[in-house]
Amino acid sequence: MSSESRRGYRGPLKAAIFDWAGTTVDYGCCAPAAVFLDVFEKRGIAVTQEQAREPMGMHKRDHIRVMCRMQPIAEQWSARYGRQPSEEDVESMFQEFVPLQLAVIEKHADIIPGTIETMAALRTRGMGIGSTTGYNDAMMRLLVPKAAEGGYAPDVVVCVSDVPEGRPAPWMALEAAKQLGVYPVEAIVKVGDTVADIGEGLNAGMWTVAVVEHGNEVGLPEADLVRLTSAERKDRLSRARQRLLDAGAHYAVETIADLPEVLDRIDERLRQGEKP
Ligand SMILES: [Mg+2]
Repeated sequence: MSSESRRGYRGPLKAAIFDWAGTTVDYGCCAPAAVFLDVFEKRGIAVTQEQAREPMGMHKRDHIRVMCRMQPIAEQWSARYGRQPSEEDVESMFQEFVPLQLAVIEKHADIIPGTIETMAALRTRGMGIGSTTGYNDAMMRLLVPKAAEGGYAPDVVVCVSDVPEGRPAPWMALEAAKQLGVYPVEAIVKVGDTVADIGEGLNAGMWTVAVVEHGNEVGLPEADLVRLTSAERKDRLSRARQRLLDAGAHYAVETIADLPEVLDRIDERLRQGEKP
């Protein structure tokens, strides 16, 4: 081991690991949200957009389980079925979720504006580009080629079905680091749009940056976001930003286009000997 690595890493960032929906593709993270609403509606359970979006970023099975435990949902369930939702209910809703998600995923593959330019800036800095997602391998077989057609092709794609446990566990981010061949973890930044993404990055010992405007916490497609009054927009953005900072994000940026400037600040903190 070199003396440098024993004393702590003081070099620049070597890689970034990006989430997919709401971070680099699918403005507003709309593809999964609509499908969660459908799956519960089929069982006669009304859920809100907010409830469907709160656990976003987790394994979709874990996401359904978390929704089932939300009080308004559990109450509707017991009023209708005379019992709490069981693990079998969670599994059967997940089995329904998968084909519905597969059916719409390619319609939500548009690259978020600023992504291509930010990736080019990372390449110029010599950084590797990894990615992780709560989607499974069947979903990614559709999404990855669509994104590549649009000009976004990360070096590494790790999905939730590649690891023993999804977010907020660190395994996807650490697997991406391994496949990129990059260490130490403090030379890596995790970028995502959900509380679960920030948890994944922090648990992996990485720097974390939240993207706000096009992410799940705002939760609107671009066409709907531009229709808000400027006061509504400001309010929605500031509440989303606060939730992500409260989750422990080191930085929250408006859009992915704003990332390079934050990388400079992290590089400076690394130079000073700081760790995430
Ligand atoms: Mg996301």
